[in-house]
Amino acid sequence: MRLDVVSLAPEAFAPLLGLGVIGRAFGAGIAELHLHNPRDFATDRYRKVDDEPYGGGAGMVLKPEPVYAAVEAIPVLQRRRVLLMSPQGRPLQQADLRRWATDCDQLVFLCGHYEGFDERIRALADEEVSIGDFVLTGGELPAMTIINGVVRLLPGTVGTQACLEEESHSTPLLEHPHYTRPAEFRGMTVPDVLRSGDHGAIARWRHAQQLERTRERRPDLFARWQNEQSVDAGAQAAGG
Ligand code: SAM
Repeated sequence: MRLDVVSLAPEAFAPLLGLGVIGRAFGAGIAELHLHNPRDFATDRYRKVDDEPYGGGAGMVLKPEPVYAAVEAIPVLQRRRVLLMSPQGRPLQQADLRRWATDCDQLVFLCGHYEGFDERIRALADEEVSIGDFVLTGGELPAMTIINGVVRLLPGTVGTQACLEEESHSTPLLEHPHYTRPAEFRGMTVPDVLRSGDHGAIARWRHAQQLERTRERRPDLFARWQNEQSVDAGAQAAGG
């Protein structure tokens, strides 16, 4: 997958290339990262990329011309999405990461800065994405978050596909707890069932744990799961 990032701070992305399995995926050519600085596309002698907002107000606004020029210089692959990083965007979900990892050959990330970007920059984007209801200084960490989440889903990045299918947010239920050796640590013991060798009992225990954790920690997800169960049951009843 080709990843293009338009950012005034391209140096911020260097750590991604050394980041464990994600760094190795770049090394193995599973994903390629291309960085583009709008400042390199500014045409005035000060290479100005921001300006005061029309109508007044605090902060500077990212100008449209250098961002458009940077985006227009990027080669276009067929299955491409342009993602605008914005706290006003749709909140990021695991399903988005999966969709982009499956359906796209190229993702272009537009990172805002300062007070934000000129409204006309929005017209470049297919989707406006937020990583949560809080505000950061720039779009670099949001873009890196998405890149990390997408690249780990690409075939070959993470060893076993089962790891990706069973984890939290691949279904509405959160993942069950994990334990490794030692069997007892500072008075905290591993549940007997996990050491029983009874795979049926282990699967039932894990599922019960998933239900309990989701109900306790994320009632919104639990309600979604219950809803999906009743839709499935309804469809089965109608089919039968
Ligand atoms: N004034 C803007 C507003 O109220 O919507 C916030 C601008 S923020 C300081 C600068 C840039 O950081 C944004 O243009 C966006 O690219 C990025 N950013 C900040 N928080 C973000 C979030 N939660 N999700 C995605 N991008 C974010």
